[in-house]
Amino acid sequence: MAKPIIWCIGGSDSGGGAGVQADLLTVQALGGHGCTVVSAITAQNSVAVTQVQAVPLEVLSNQLNALASDLWPGAVKIGMLGDASQVAALAEFLHWMKQQPKAPLIIWDPVARASCGSQLAALQLTDCAPLLRLLDLITPNANELALLTGIEPTDATSLAVAASLLLEQGVGAVLVKGGHLHWTGEECQDWYLSPTKQWRFTCSRIDTPHGHGTGCTFASAIATALCLDYPMDDAICIAKAYINQGLKGAVPLGQGPGPVAHLG
Ligand code: PLP
Repeated sequence: MAKPIIWCIGGSDSGGGAGVQADLLTVQALGGHGCTVVSAITAQNSVAVTQVQAVPLEVLSNQLNALASDLWPGAVKIGMLGDASQVAALAEFLHWMKQQPKAPLIIWDPVARASCGSQLAALQLTDCAPLLRLLDLITPNANELALLTGIEPTDATSLAVAASLLLEQGVGAVLVKGGHLHWTGEECQDWYLSPTKQWRFTCSRIDTPHGHGTGCTFASAIATALCLDYPMDDAICIAKAYINQGLKGAVPLGQGPGPVAHLG
């Protein structure tokens, strides 16, 4: 089988634990080839984010055009976006891609904060609407789901209501990551909701402070597995196994939370 190409659109993490750096490590480990479209440059280490600089729209679109003319992807994984104008420009470009003969899958991990707590991007559902309708999958954690929908997922019912708001916007499926769903106790439960299916992926919580980059890694792993022709439920299981292995192997490197470990 040809090596699948996955575009990773997101911020650069100078600490090397999250953002496009984590995406590339994940795609590589799972057998794909990762390309990057950098939306923002962050200056950060394991303790703090000291600068976030969105790239100009021209730089964003030059990266997209360079890749589209030569390295067409099986999937596009999106992470942190710098501002509302980037969301709009990217949505326009992805809308065009979706109309091409080999339209890629599109997955968005809507990043709001770094693991150390620093704000990375402000998300408004109204700004995101043009992007949402193009997505095959969105992978918010509890906080990101609340930011996008205005509903805190404090139990299974509110989680389903919040997810249905995203589905109404045209998102193909919602996977709410369980790391921040504290009401599920000792179990970590990831909730998958689409118009036709509802699944819960359950495992034991892994107790470690070192999980920087887990969100980026999870979504990139799903994107790569889908490009390798695994069906969605298998792709999510593969990504969960990759993350859990990475959390078990994570070690501190600086003074703050260490990055999730990668295979290879
Ligand atoms: N993208 C960038 C550029 C980041 O710096 C971060 C966190 O610092 C993230 C995404 C989100 O990281 P996580 O995968 O831990 O949610």
